[in-house]
Amino acid sequence: MTPDLSRFRCRRCGACCRIPGGLVRLREGESAALAAALGMDERTFLDEHALLAPDRRSLVLRDHADGSCEMLGEDGLCRVHAAKPAQCREFPVSWRNPDSFRTCPGLRALAREAAKNPHAESAEGAE
Ligand code: SF4
Ligand code: SF4
Repeated sequence: MTPDLSRFRCRRCGACCRIPGGLVRLREGESAALAAALGMDERTFLDEHALLAPDRRSLVLRDHADGSCEMLGEDGLCRVHAAKPAQCREFPVSWRNPDSFRTCPGLRALAREAAKNPHAESAEGAE
């Protein structure tokens, strides 16, 4: 049974920002937007907060020492929420992986709901 992702509700828990080894890739124009959100110039932002991905295909955000995203504030909220990368905005409705149903409480709730109502209509095709 595929959960109905149109019913996804984010719990704002930040678990998806704390996945060790998770890469937040930056698309074109996003480093400028992130720099502006932090009140710094883009060059400084790139020097201080971005790295080349291990596969060298894009820039990624740096991590804190515990593996969480460096943009995650001490209050558990994203410091660049209004300008956060598309990869973050699109998770988990536009993309996710099987492990996301374990780590994301919003997806877990949908999966539980789907298990209770196995004959309900789903908005999504096979995953
Ligand atoms: S793990 Fe899921 S519920 Fe928690 S902040 Fe991320 S998307 Fe929202
Ligand atoms: S940029 Fe913000 S939303 Fe994206 S992983 Fe980092 S803290 Fe989370």
